[in-house]
Amino acid sequence: MAIAKIKPAEPVRIDLKKEDTVKVMSGRDSGKTGRVLVEHVMMVKRHTRPNPAKQIKGGIAERESPIAASNVMIVCPGCNKAVRIAHHVDQLPGGKTRRTRVCRKCGAALDKK
Ligand SMILES: [Zn+2]
Repeated sequence: MAIAKIKPAEPVRIDLKKEDTVKVMSGRDSGKTGRVLVEHVMMVKRHTRPNPAKQIKGGIAERESPIAASNVMIVCPGCNKAVRIAHHVDQLPGGKTRRTRVCRKCGAALDKK
C-alpha cells in the first residue's frame, strides 16, 4: 500500500484509483489531464521523466511527481468533464452493501466492472 498523508482528525476518503483519468485543478500543472499511476500517491504520467543530470530517476521516486489528491478531479467518461464523485450504494442480497463511484453531474459509473 502506498502512503497517504491524512490527518487523523479529518478523515479523507481518497476516491481516486489507479487508471483513473484525472484533471489537475491547481498548481504548476493545472489544466493538464493524465492517468493516476499509483493509488494514493497521485502520480500523473506526464511528470515522470528520468533526468540523469539531476539524479532524478523516472517513476515513483521522482521529486515533483506526487500530486495531492485534493488537487485533481476525476474526468468522467460519460460527460468528459472534471467532476466530483458521488457514491451510489447498492443493496446486495444478504444485507451487504456495495459502494460504486458515479459522476455527480451525469450519473455515469466511474468504476469499471
Ligand atoms: Zn459525467
